[in-house]
Amino acid sequence: MSASLPATPAVASARLPSAPHALDLTAQAFDALGSDGGAAITYRDLFSPHADLPRRLRAWAQDHGLSLRRLEAITRERGGRSEKLLFALPDGMAIETVLIRRRDGHTACVSSQVGCAFACRFCASGQAGLKRNLSAGEIVEQVVRLGPRVNRIVFMGIGEPLNNYDNVLAAIRILRERRGLAFPTTGITLSTIGIPKGLKALREEHLAINLTISLHATTQNQRAALIPGARKHDIGEVVARALSWAHRHNRLVTFVYLVLPGINDSPADLDRLEAMFAGTPARINLMRWNPVDGVRLGRTPDSTLSAFREGLARAGIPVAVRDTQGRDITAACGQLWLRDSAGRALAAPA
Ligand code: SF4
Repeated sequence: MSASLPATPAVASARLPSAPHALDLTAQAFDALGSDGGAAITYRDLFSPHADLPRRLRAWAQDHGLSLRRLEAITRERGGRSEKLLFALPDGMAIETVLIRRRDGHTACVSSQVGCAFACRFCASGQAGLKRNLSAGEIVEQVVRLGPRVNRIVFMGIGEPLNNYDNVLAAIRILRERRGLAFPTTGITLSTIGIPKGLKALREEHLAINLTISLHATTQNQRAALIPGARKHDIGEVVARALSWAHRHNRLVTFVYLVLPGINDSPADLDRLEAMFAGTPARINLMRWNPVDGVRLGRTPDSTLSAFREGLARAGIPVAVRDTQGRDITAACGQLWLRDSAGRALAAPA
């Protein structure tokens, strides 16, 4: 799918260190570095939110051949309740990370990959394909750089987190490490299109995270058209694996359903959704599409959303209509572009 590109922010290209990243270290790996030569550096010090890191910390990192930061914030766009940061990476690419302000804290919407292989029709992030995975440290650093008021993390930025399973799980473990940020896993939401192999592995992890599945369809063909990268994943298996995770962890799993006029909003779709989820540990979030330059899809009318909400509620399924923050700065779900470190959005390969 071709797409016209959004305006290019004026930014400088970045020069960043490519030494091993201190934020990739687990507490055990930090301990294994041994004596700190009297600098009295603790594991917690690695997660300092300050822009100017203490001299003794910088000296410690230099002694160990580590870089304390790998991301360079090159633009910061402020909207009503959200901010979008463009972070340059050492290899000339850049990712977008979003901060959403709530009354009781901040939510960090983090990226997990540089680009995305799944090419969802409704999303900007997969337009240029997948360039590489982010490391655990590059994921953790996005949270650290957004500041100490972050008390929720959602993996809803660029990339499919289950397609970078090991690094995402490593990042979650580093974030929750008691001696570091001690981030509560109940404040972490992993949002995925639902790769069955990844869901199977996630079921066996002892992590009290929240799980959200981007469903968006009620038939295999409909889903394959909307999420080309998931055409080999049977929709029934995706749903079954997610519900199995919910049973195993005694939690509800959230299914997100982007209601798209003329595509997945028929009475038959509503019937199928009810049949899929009645009596299961699932809740459904209905969403409207957030416009993406060059993509022709529509925003569904309120009447259709109401019909879906009422039908699902009548079937006893917990349901809500969700609006995402950040449309004023094109930072809402599906609106984040992969960019290079000069801020240019990358289009689909020719
Ligand atoms: S919605 Fe998620 S899985 Fe689909 S292209 Fe965007 S980032 Fe990738």
